[in-house]
This record gives sequence, structure tokens and C-alpha cells, in this order.
Amino acid sequence: MTGTLWLVATPIGNLGDIAPRARETLEQSALVCCEDTRRTGRLLQHLGITARALAVCNDHTEHRLAERVANELAAGHDVAVVSDAGTPGISDPGERLVHAAINAGATVSAIPGACAAISALITSGLPTERFVMEGFLPRRGQERTDRLTDIAAEHRTIVLYEAPHRIVRTLADLTEICGGDRQISIGRELTKLHEETIRSTLAELRLEEPRGEYVIVIAGRPREQQTITEESIRDALEEALSRGLSRRDAAADVARRLGIPRRQAYDLVIQSPSPQEMNTP
Ligand code: SAM
Repeated sequence: MTGTLWLVATPIGNLGDIAPRARETLEQSALVCCEDTRRTGRLLQHLGITARALAVCNDHTEHRLAERVANELAAGHDVAVVSDAGTPGISDPGERLVHAAINAGATVSAIPGACAAISALITSGLPTERFVMEGFLPRRGQERTDRLTDIAAEHRTIVLYEAPHRIVRTLADLTEICGGDRQISIGRELTKLHEETIRSTLAELRLEEPRGEYVIVIAGRPREQQTITEESIRDALEEALSRGLSRRDAAADVARRLGIPRRQAYDLVIQSPSPQEMNTP
């Protein structure tokens, strides 16, 4: 019999949010994998329990730890995974250990609980039926531009994590690419003493001296009434190329303006003649 890999959610602020089953699992597992032993140690102390063994699981160690976890599971021992706060595997380590457990033929089970993204989404007042989780945006470069372009074209509600020292810049970038009319909700310090939810449009939003932890929730792009045909996409691409944009940038620009997937625009733009070819008689 193989053991079970337990993915255990921990509080994102309020220590009262730990589930009784999480407590039992952390106490009974042969190994608790955590991001920071001191931080998890404090949680365990608060719960009045002592873990049998702790191992550090972060971007640098998760790969090596996967082998140890697979061995423990194969020996029939249970292993728990926690992150510093919230649900492991959601913008936090955990995914590699899940792969290792699946490959070892072990059961993978969640002990659900706090997740900042879900708390911010359900309190935002924005549509919850369909949403996408974007996690943290890349900090700079083409990768960031591409992700922002995808967000601008997205019709579902979008959830983002952001650090306090980068939130003003990210909100400015979102305003530029999505337009100021877009509805937004910011969940700050959720479950903590100074919890607040700020609902606004991107243009009207003011954050003074950002402090604490933030989740950004943005309304999806409204669907336009007009039907977008392949011909209209090709026309828009031709116009973008004639403005001197590269094929890649033209595809991103048209995808954003017409609210279509970037891939669709890209597939068509690679069939278009380049501006030089268009000018050749
Ligand atoms: N796995 C975690 C979860 O389930 O929510 C998220 C981990 S991620 C490394 C940390 C980010 O989550 C923070 O930068 C912030 O964007 C968001 N976050 C965590 N706790 C929060 C809180 N109490 N209020 C608002 N946002 C929070």
C-alpha cells in the first residue's frame, strides 16, 4: 500500500481558518514539506502539534525533494505539503511533488482551505461563473507584454496576484492595455485585521502607499456585437503591418483590438505578405 500525498491549505492571515482535518494530517504525516521551516514551525506551534519531520520545498529544492517524497509514499508513509500561506500549488510550490506522487502510484488528496485568489474573486462582485487565474505577471519584457495582451482580450474574469511595490505599475499597464472603463476589484489583506475590497474602474482607482498583500480581479472584455470575420482580421493585420509593426506585434495588436485569441491572429499574420513584399510591384 502506498501512502497519500496530502496538499494542505493553511491560513492566508487569520489563523482560525485552519481546518481540523489539516491539523490531524500535519500531525500524522511522516514528512511535512514546507517553503520555510520557521514559518511552518510557528503555525505548528500555534496548533500545538509537532511534525514528525519537516523538509524545505521551494523552487530550488522541489526537484530533489520529489525523489524523497516518492520513496516515502512507496514505503506506505503519508506526506503533507503546505506553503507559507494558502493553497499549495497555486503560485506556490507543490506541482512537482504531485507529479512524483502520481508516478509513484500514490493517492493525491487535497485538504482545502484558504486561497487568496478565490476569496478575492467571490467578494469582487464581478462574474464568478467563468474566470481565469493568471497568478503573478512576468516582471518585464516581451513575456509581460504578451500576458497583458492576453488579459486585455480575455472575456472571462481575470485574477492576478501582485506584490505591493509593483501594484501601481501593474495597474497603470492594465489601464493602458485594457482601457480605463474596465471594472476592477482589489482584495487587500484578506482575512486580516485591515482587510478591504476596493471596487472601481481602472481609470478611477487610486491606491495610496500600497501596503500589505493584494489580489487584483478584473472584469473580462465585453463581447462586441459585431461579427469578426477572417476577412476583417486580415484587413486589421494588413493595416497594423503597414504601420511598421512586426508580424508578432501586429498579431498582438489586432488580437487586443478585436478581442480575439492572439494565436488566431498570429496564424493569419504569418500568411500575410510582409510590408516589404506589399510594397514590391
Ligand atoms: N498559494 C497562495 C494562495 O492560495 O492564495 C498564494 C501564494 S502567492 C506566493 C502570494 C500572493 O497571494 C501575494 O503576493 C498576494 O498577491 C496573494 N495573497 C496572499 N495572502 C493574501 C491576503 N491575505 N490578502 C490578499 N492577497 C493575498
